[in-house]
Amino acid sequence: MPASIIDGKKKAMAIREVVARDAAALAAEGVVPGLAVVVVGQHPASQVYVRNKRTACRKAGIESFSHDLPEETSEEELLSLIEKLNRDDGVHGILVQLPLPAHIDSARVIDAILPHKDVDGFHPENVGLLNLGRPCLAPCTPQGVVDLIESTGTEISGKRACVIGRSNIVGKPVAAMLMARNATVTVCHSRTQELDGEVGRADIAVAAIGRPEFVKGSWIKPGAVVIDVGINRREDGTLVGDVEFKAACERASFITPVPGGVGPMTIAMLLKNTVEAASRAIVR
Ligand code: NAD
Repeated sequence: MPASIIDGKKKAMAIREVVARDAAALAAEGVVPGLAVVVVGQHPASQVYVRNKRTACRKAGIESFSHDLPEETSEEELLSLIEKLNRDDGVHGILVQLPLPAHIDSARVIDAILPHKDVDGFHPENVGLLNLGRPCLAPCTPQGVVDLIESTGTEISGKRACVIGRSNIVGKPVAAMLMARNATVTVCHSRTQELDGEVGRADIAVAAIGRPEFVKGSWIKPGAVVIDVGINRREDGTLVGDVEFKAACERASFITPVPGGVGPMTIAMLLKNTVEAASRAIVR
């Protein structure tokens, strides 16, 4: 039987409705959740992501503060903006759109964001807390991945999970979150030998590589849940994931499409983190 397609758009809309209700409840208590979005330069993909994030904020009742800085902004100037946003009580979340221009040290900038305003979950304090299994602001795309797996009704505990990709923003945190849910996790990367065999043993396969249809459908274990994080643009302008979708559908039990799978969940989780950061500000 062909795989059921996991509808990330629908799931994300449901999360956004809950977030909008929580934001309205906070506003009634006098706290309008605020997200500062900082963009340096004119990276074309970043412009699209950022526009989508701002529209999503408005719809959820979150105030978004735009800081569009020119490409030649110095690291010191950016750090002083972060300082200002850290001190601003109306700003509960700070998002610095990556990648930053090459002359700016991204790590220094991320480290400068107050951990309780780090709605991307990239600050070392949040990374550490996540790996310790303690409450934190967790990164958005990995939260979306785990949520989509859970939405299928799959029991994660005891399952073999294969995470392909070990980036700090997707692969590593996804692995940590699955391990925290008692999966037996294998993390694969560009030096992994016999990737097909690793994927073939997995009850849950998460692909976050950035290579079009790299994971072949024939590798997938029959009945596996497949989450495709990859977003790759073909020459004709269409988008494709990291998994050979059609062939994988013949073997998986559940699979995410690209687009319409993990992508919409990332923004929903950003809104959720912002409202969570704002609600923590009330008790702070
Ligand atoms: P990255 O380039 O930082 O990391 C890619 C990872 O893939 C690396 O760890 C590398 O070791 C691994 N890899 C590369 N070639 C491999 C190979 N041949 N075999 C096995 N592993 C290999 O990328 P990233 O930031 O983690 O993003 C991965 C993909 O996910 C990209 O397509 C990106 O656009 C997409 N992405 C989507 C969302 C979303 O919201 N849907 C969010 C973030 C990233």
